[in-house]
Amino acid sequence: MAEAEHSAGRTPGSVALLAVSKGQSAAAVAALADCGHRRFAESYLQEALAKQQALAQCPWALDLEWHFIGPIQSNKTRKIAESFDWVHSVDRLKIAERLSSQRPAERAPLKVFIEVNIDREPSKAGLLPEELAAFVADCRALPRVQVVGLMTIPEPHGVAGFARLAALNAQLVAPLPLLSMGMSADFPQAIAAGSTHVRVGTALFGVRGA
Ligand SMILES: *Cc1c(COP(=O)(O)O)cnc(C)c1O
Repeated sequence: MAEAEHSAGRTPGSVALLAVSKGQSAAAVAALADCGHRRFAESYLQEALAKQQALAQCPWALDLEWHFIGPIQSNKTRKIAESFDWVHSVDRLKIAERLSSQRPAERAPLKVFIEVNIDREPSKAGLLPEELAAFVADCRALPRVQVVGLMTIPEPHGVAGFARLAALNAQLVAPLPLLSMGMSADFPQAIAAGSTHVRVGTALFGVRGA
């Protein structure tokens, strides 16, 4: 990451590393947290809640920053709004509305990234680029979510989508401050294109267990 930041002329340390701990044990999360890492991302709600509970007594438990990056069904929004501070996979207004209304009043607004299907892949989640501007405006009207950025997963082996997501953001009336893009195989290219949050699983933890 430091090399990619350097060669892209980005400020050293300015890109956040999210450790994608889906498929990994609570002990694996604890090992990284013991080394000082605080940002973790999960894709499956029940698995994430079990891990959060298993780690609740650890000295750093309250300092952990949990990001939800998986598909969201309506019946999961309440728990997500209660147990996470960041959500990267918002692509339907109904889901955004539920997250907003279900975010506990005593917590800060939920930070959300809007997912974009940048390569227009038929089976992939996310808004089409031309749907984005209206959707951002709708989400910004919700009181208990804070729209912080855009997220994308480009087509396999394709990295051109990163720059296109950054350009799409720049074209918004008010461009968003954050871009969630880049995984184990392509985070250097994502950083070169302006990523602020890379989501890395395999390169940190090894191959996910069966
Ligand atoms: C699993 C996952 C990642 C991490 O993928 P790796 O290739 O293991 O780094 C990143 N983002 C999302 C949305 C994922 O589901």
